[in-house]
Amino acid sequence: MFEKILIANRGEIALRVLRACRELGVKVVAVHSEADTEAKYVKLADESVCIGPAPSAQSYLNVPAIISAAEVTDAEAIHPGYGFLSENADFAERIEQSGFVFIGPRPETIRLMGDKVSAKDAMKAAGVPCVPGSDGALSEDSREIVRIARGVGYPVIIKAAGGGGGRGMRVVHTEAALLNAVSTTRAEAQAAFGNPVVYMEKFLENPRHIEIQIMADQHGSAVYLGERDCSMQRRHQKVIEEAPAPGIDRKLIAAVGERCARACRKIGYRGAGTFEFLYENGEFYFIEMNTRVQVEHPVTELITGIDIVQTQIRVAAGEKLRFRQRDIELRGHAIECRINAEDPFNFTPSPGRITNWHTPGGPGVRVDSHAYNGYTVPSHYDSMIGKLITCGDTREQAIRRMRIALSEMAVAGIKTNIPLHQALMLDTNFIEGGASIHYLEERLSDLNEVKTD
Ligand code: ADP
Repeated sequence: MFEKILIANRGEIALRVLRACRELGVKVVAVHSEADTEAKYVKLADESVCIGPAPSAQSYLNVPAIISAAEVTDAEAIHPGYGFLSENADFAERIEQSGFVFIGPRPETIRLMGDKVSAKDAMKAAGVPCVPGSDGALSEDSREIVRIARGVGYPVIIKAAGGGGGRGMRVVHTEAALLNAVSTTRAEAQAAFGNPVVYMEKFLENPRHIEIQIMADQHGSAVYLGERDCSMQRRHQKVIEEAPAPGIDRKLIAAVGERCARACRKIGYRGAGTFEFLYENGEFYFIEMNTRVQVEHPVTELITGIDIVQTQIRVAAGEKLRFRQRDIELRGHAIECRINAEDPFNFTPSPGRITNWHTPGGPGVRVDSHAYNGYTVPSHYDSMIGKLITCGDTREQAIRRMRIALSEMAVAGIKTNIPLHQALMLDTNFIEGGASIHYLEERLSDLNEVKTD
């Protein structure tokens, strides 16, 4: 096991990794920007290093500053968390070249999966079902593009190979709009991601977002830890996640999960990873892979009893997985609500000082948050200030516990989206389970209409 790990992240995930390190008896180096100097998790770390001013480009994305922080503190490994540099292959490569261990997949794997065209090719080759569409990148030949779209059938979606964060995509409903959409997406992709490559997929009208968590070691073993349903989204950002996904045939999930694990073995994957799928009419369609720990990992931890972050660290240290596929048993149901510092209905960010912070407790309640009484939410970063997770023997019990937990939670001084979660925990379609990725936005536009009436 490592003696010391540097956490190249901030906020709740920095605290989550710190806790995992503590349990493993590993010392922790926290790096932070000038805006996070006062954060409690920074004080909890064994050592801390300021890596730059508040803007992420100068701190949490500052590769030389992070590497020199590891050098001066003599850390052995670097955990990237999620977001920031976690899926940056060049960062992983620089870390390994400097003699540290990157807690994540090999740089080549990150590169392969970071390009959506090559990721899809690799998954197709491994037998993972993909959304029908162009065979790889679209050429410049307009007649060819029109022919592919006719074959796929409208509506289609044009997506950037280098896209991410819900950007670089355009839905096309008619042939008349096709070529223009392709060239606009190409130009935008070049400007935003420095890569003009685009590809085409069938646009699925009413899918759910279902993802499979996998865990692989460096000795050829890969196991899937069930699935999560993350269909409650706004602007492609997840708001609520749960595991297992309600109403999907377990045999189908096992078949897809097995293929994902097999794909991992085939590409020599190591660490935690997530295969994201759209699910419609009983079929799974792969859209992309995330080569890091996800925000929503706790719901999987609660129903499998496996600590995903600790396992990431153990695997990076060269240990074998301590479980096999047949040991994985899903018990009960878990739901996560992302708590954001924002207006619950118009979503304007609400940074500032938290004057009162009271978190819920009791059976089946977990709070992952770095916030506290008197904490100031900086305006420079993502608005998520924590996650409230509940579990129970059944989905109903998890929902009931979530309602109680939300009602106990008190946050003053800033606005949060807790009222939105409270409304959703009483929403008949959410309670029924299985809503599509468009449901939340439709519901929000209904609410706004009611408000303006
Ligand atoms: P990103 O890396 O930007 O998150 P994804 O490929 O994961 O991009 O797609 C993000 C979201 O866009 C999906 O969760 C889904 O809501 C929508 N989307 C992507 N591809 C399709 C598709 N073929 N049909 C319908 N919706 C899609």
